Amino acid sequence: MEIKIELTKHPKEKPSSENLGFGQVFSDHMFMMDYTEGKGWHDPRIVPYGPILYDPALMVYHYGQAIFEGLKAYRTRDNHIVLFRPDENMKRLNQSCERLCIPKVDEEFALMAMKKLIEVDKDWVPDAPGTSLYIRPFIYATDPYLGVRPSNTYHFLIITGPVGAYYKEGLNPVKIYVESKYVRAVAGGIGAVKTAGNYAASLKAQQEAKDLGYTQVLWLDGVERKYVEEVGTMNVFFVIGNEVVTPELNGSILPGITRKSCIELLKHWGLKISERKISIQEVFEANEKGLLKEAFGTGTAAVISPIGELYWNEQRVILNGGKIGELSHRLYDELTGIQYCEKPDPFGWVVPV
Ligand code: PMP
Repeated sequence: MEIKIELTKHPKEKPSSENLGFGQVFSDHMFMMDYTEGKGWHDPRIVPYGPILYDPALMVYHYGQAIFEGLKAYRTRDNHIVLFRPDENMKRLNQSCERLCIPKVDEEFALMAMKKLIEVDKDWVPDAPGTSLYIRPFIYATDPYLGVRPSNTYHFLIITGPVGAYYKEGLNPVKIYVESKYVRAVAGGIGAVKTAGNYAASLKAQQEAKDLGYTQVLWLDGVERKYVEEVGTMNVFFVIGNEVVTPELNGSILPGITRKSCIELLKHWGLKISERKISIQEVFEANEKGLLKEAFGTGTAAVISPIGELYWNEQRVILNGGKIGELSHRLYDELTGIQYCEKPDPFGWVVPV
């Protein structure tokens, strides 16, 4: 399929690379492709970024048949633009499609389209340290119909926008509220894929935790509220004695690409890394025994987010004196070093645009 390109006649002013936030500024163009039952995916095109007029009965507005991905393009010091493991995002995109009864896309074609879009908007990839171009591919149901069934038509879009450094003053440990009332997901549900409903389901807990002075919640399992699942919109790791532990993928945890990369790095470094069930009780007991050395979240946005404090069951744990742990720092430096091509990439994770 050939991608038609229509360039904007009204290029926007680009924000300064120095004070970028997240998710508010969008590049000049977007990629779009349509799906029609019987015809498949068709009409791939790059067009000026802008609003789309839809019927109010659009299925996605009512029943949330929508999936998305999130990744970044990085400008290297010698002015190349690279992506980090984008094939993994495309694979997960299709896993999300599968679970939401959305027709899959050709992963290689979607990646090629993404690269083409970045190429067209290459001047939007910022160059200040720690900044990047955030890329948001997403698919949603477009039948104007109020019955509950999978849609027969869809739109696949990719939008991008420059984002600031997540940490402006170095890695920053966060305060975490262990959530025992609300749950994010259950096995058999949709927690293991990136679909809009998971984020809608998380808002209430997030809001209540914020009101109590916490940055994020630590999610527990939906059956017993016993086992650790994720932290905010990140996967979670604990360093207990000489073992690094992360919850095993159990059907309700999102398989993060940063999580996978951390596991591979830790193995490469010869450290003991276990993917297993870990209860919140075990975490607090490890702390009492003096064995809980570090905890951190992993995700595309922050890469590594050290946990400085955990609150559960009227007990408060301060980790590593509220300071950033050694392993958190090492993983952060290694991953960001690879992403910006400042460190060797022994795994071939970085892909040129
Ligand atoms: N869990 C959830 C719920 C997320 O939204 C994300 C962000 N995609 C992650 C974990 C981390 O995934 P990744 O490392 O692929 O960004």
